[in-house]
Amino acid sequence: MIAPTALFALDTLLTDEEREIRTTVRKVCDREIRPHVAGWFESGELPARELARALGEVGVLGMHLEGYGCAGLGAVAYGLACLELEAADSGLRSLVSVQGSLAMYTIWKYGSEEQKQEWLPAMAAGERIGCFGLTEPDFGSDPGGMRTTAKREGGDWVLNGTKMWITNGSVADVAVVWARTDEGIRGFLVPAGTPGFTANDLKHKVSLRASVTSELVLDGVRLPDAAMLPGARGLSGPLGCLNEARFGIVFGAMGAALDCLETAIAYAGDREVFARPLSSYQLTQEKLADMALELGKGLLLAVHLGRLKEAGTITPEQVSAGKLNNVREALEIARTCRTVLGASGITLEYPVIRHAVNLESVLTYEGTSEIHTLVLGKALTGIGAFH
Ligand SMILES: Cc1cc2nc3c(=O)[nH]c(=O)nc-3n(C[C@H](O)[C@H](O)[C@H](O)COP(=O)(O)OP(=O)(O)OC[C@H]3O[C@@H](n4cnc5c(N)ncnc54)[C@H](O)[C@@H]3O)c2cc1C
Repeated sequence: MIAPTALFALDTLLTDEEREIRTTVRKVCDREIRPHVAGWFESGELPARELARALGEVGVLGMHLEGYGCAGLGAVAYGLACLELEAADSGLRSLVSVQGSLAMYTIWKYGSEEQKQEWLPAMAAGERIGCFGLTEPDFGSDPGGMRTTAKREGGDWVLNGTKMWITNGSVADVAVVWARTDEGIRGFLVPAGTPGFTANDLKHKVSLRASVTSELVLDGVRLPDAAMLPGARGLSGPLGCLNEARFGIVFGAMGAALDCLETAIAYAGDREVFARPLSSYQLTQEKLADMALELGKGLLLAVHLGRLKEAGTITPEQVSAGKLNNVREALEIARTCRTVLGASGITLEYPVIRHAVNLESVLTYEGTSEIHTLVLGKALTGIGAFH
């Protein structure tokens, strides 16, 4: 028997350092996350602060950024960390993606030196948590329509509006909030506790339950001029950050798929049906072989895109292709693994159904599968079909 990842000799494409980082993150997940995550999912509660500190200690938060307490590691190393985290639960990878690739990256890329010094070292250590508020109740796929405004009043800015579906919202110490101004869309850093700013958790989720998802309300939030991100102008600011987080999902989704496939292979070996192991039937082997193929192809694509990112040549269309393919295939793998487990596949005793319902969110956030399809359609035809 060989492991699904061994089929394509994935490890031969990785450096010693990358393999070590993967092992380190896997150990943290085995210790801090895996024993508890089904319970967090069931109760819909996450000890986000403790987890952020544990992940900060091993240097995972903002690990691909340079300076300010960040490790400055390569894209593949970061991707492998996302893979290990999402093999535990997509909610945990979401916490890390939003912290590192959305909130920290935004400050790192567009912030003033004072903003970077104030927030980045503490966020890298997991002592402070960030969130990223772009989506609104009426504007998800089309964030350019946003209604949140920031108006000048003397030397200050006053923000009004509502952001929706914001990961880490109510546990964040700082919210990156995108708002419409007279000079176009601009980004602002809103510290938790600022008068007029509230974060309310969204209840009744059946997906990503081990993740905090909130509504942000900005009701006359007054901020000094220094709260604005000087380097981001227009919608390209937030969209550039989303591209960073999407890259992590290309790897992460394959982590969830790998955990499902390993679970299904083990289950099919143990489970006897009609007096023989389930894994000895051709129908089962076809499922397992097809899933191993899609997993292997997805992992190879992820590493390839990681190398392009490290070379500085990756394009947004390539990230869209990776996100679209790998989340779609991961979801298909999770659903098929669910069938292999029969009735056991619907309980939280096994991780499969949890991964499957989590991946429904991953299919939607960071650009829905339809939007990424349209991105590729435009790239292939030269004709945008968004409107
Ligand atoms: C668990 C979770 C966490 C999230 N975290 C964050 C976060 O931290 N920060 C943040 O800002 N946002 C976050 N989001 C929001 C997420 O990015 C949006 O849900 C996503 O962009 C889709 O927006 P929407 O839900 O409003 O769907 P809509 O935009 O209303 O889309 C509805 C459907 O219409 C389709 N559609 C849209 N436009 C077209 C078109 N032109 N042609 C064909 N079909 C189209 C979509 O693909 C989708 O199938 C999160 C969402 C979830 C579920």
